[in-house]
Amino acid sequence: MISTSVERLLYLVATVLFITGLKQLQSPETARRGNQVSALGMLLAIIVTLLSTKTVTYATIAAGLLVGGALGLYMARSVKMTSMPQMVALLNGVGGGSSLLVATAEFLHLQQTGATASVDVALSTHLGVLIGAVTLTGSAIAWAKLQEVMTGKAIVFGGQKTVNALLFAVIVALASWLIVVPTAPLWAFYALIGLSLLIGVLLVIPIGGADMPVVISLLNSYSGIAAAMTGFVIKSEVLVVSGALVGSSGIILSQIMCKAMNRSLSNVLFGAFGAAAGKSSKTAEGLVAKTTNVEEAALQLAYAQTVIVVPGYGLAVAQAQHQVRELMDLVEKRGGSVKFAIHPVAGRMPGHMNVLLAEANIPYDKLLDMDDINPEFERTDVCLVIGANDVVNPAARTDPSSPIFGMPILNADLAKRCIVMKRGMSAGFAGIENELFYGERTQMLFGDAKGTLSKLVAEVKQV
Ligand code: NDP
Repeated sequence: MISTSVERLLYLVATVLFITGLKQLQSPETARRGNQVSALGMLLAIIVTLLSTKTVTYATIAAGLLVGGALGLYMARSVKMTSMPQMVALLNGVGGGSSLLVATAEFLHLQQTGATASVDVALSTHLGVLIGAVTLTGSAIAWAKLQEVMTGKAIVFGGQKTVNALLFAVIVALASWLIVVPTAPLWAFYALIGLSLLIGVLLVIPIGGADMPVVISLLNSYSGIAAAMTGFVIKSEVLVVSGALVGSSGIILSQIMCKAMNRSLSNVLFGAFGAAAGKSSKTAEGLVAKTTNVEEAALQLAYAQTVIVVPGYGLAVAQAQHQVRELMDLVEKRGGSVKFAIHPVAGRMPGHMNVLLAEANIPYDKLLDMDDINPEFERTDVCLVIGANDVVNPAARTDPSSPIFGMPILNADLAKRCIVMKRGMSAGFAGIENELFYGERTQMLFGDAKGTLSKLVAEVKQV
């Protein structure tokens, strides 16, 4: 319906929109627009593809759109913010699965017509199959671990790495055979698919639940690379570009997350962290945590000149972002200054805290990254830790036997006074004890974050 040159030009426009959108994701202020610009690019790419499609009927496309769109809408509307990583895992898996299906269909189509694929197309096909299959089953395991359908602990067995290496060698051998000998039997291709699906499972089971968000980001990258490979197979430039963008941004994000945990990517992937998490950490035997109550805490906050709030996963679970905003307004009205210290892995996914606090219209300039806020703790009157645990655990600095040793943390323990709000003394995601709770300057304020913050707001109003 449209000429090839117009089609390519419009794909180029879509590509520019993708890249502009990505660039705008750099800052929370422009991120929303960035998302819309990228979505517009995708809409354009879809429309152009629909207009130029020659192989499938519109009725089939409409049926797919209806079923997929309805499912996606339902999932997006019903998913809880705290279950977002699972949702992303599922979507990555679906992306990998579709690349697997497209590459398989193209391979079988060539077989049926008796045509021979060029080496580059054949290579892209088998890479699309391998990476797509790994993404599909790897993401399914990541989902199951996060959803607690299976154990979140690392599953390890003797000779695991050797088994994986052998499997990988067989996959490479099969793919090479299929590329060099186009008349190779079909079972070799099906074996390639089967083994690729299996290796996806084997690669993710030895990774502990605490590392799952990094794995999900990496699988996200794989889904992009698989899509790019499929783009080469079906000669779709826009698929190559969008796949490459997803592939590279996923890798960058994985690295940012690893850096925030002071681990290397290979340690996350092959270190089986989480198999023994909690065993090497100190216990709190003999230590007593001091507690406080809402009235006392409200007094301290009302008279504080400087307050740093450290939001964590508990704040997200309690959905207490609006209450913390109210508290901020009250303290500022009384002349105090309030800042928010954002740890890169606070919560359960990258940017979790930024999204949450932005929802409550907390100005972006009040959200400070770890490196910028850490020097300020020492001169801060009150540090209010709300539902955060691992990201303020001093063991990361002081205890070489701790599983989180070396992870950069927020220096909440260095503030003049630290009030920790949580429901009890339970551990955080890493499953380890936190010395901060027993510190000289720390007071525990027990209760659900939302309920306690509401009471604090009411109390500060009375001061
Ligand atoms: P943590 O999981 O360490 O701690 C959260 C704390 O919140 C718990 O100790 C819990 O204690 C408390 N809590 C739970 N529900 C409530 C509630 N309703 N009200 C008040 N408190 C509550 O969270 P952090 O944000 O400090 O750390 C994030 C963890 O997630 C890190 O270990 C990080 O490595 C991991 N992670 C995060 C990633 C990311 O991208 N964000 C990626 C990879 C890992 P209690 O039950 O006693 O209330």
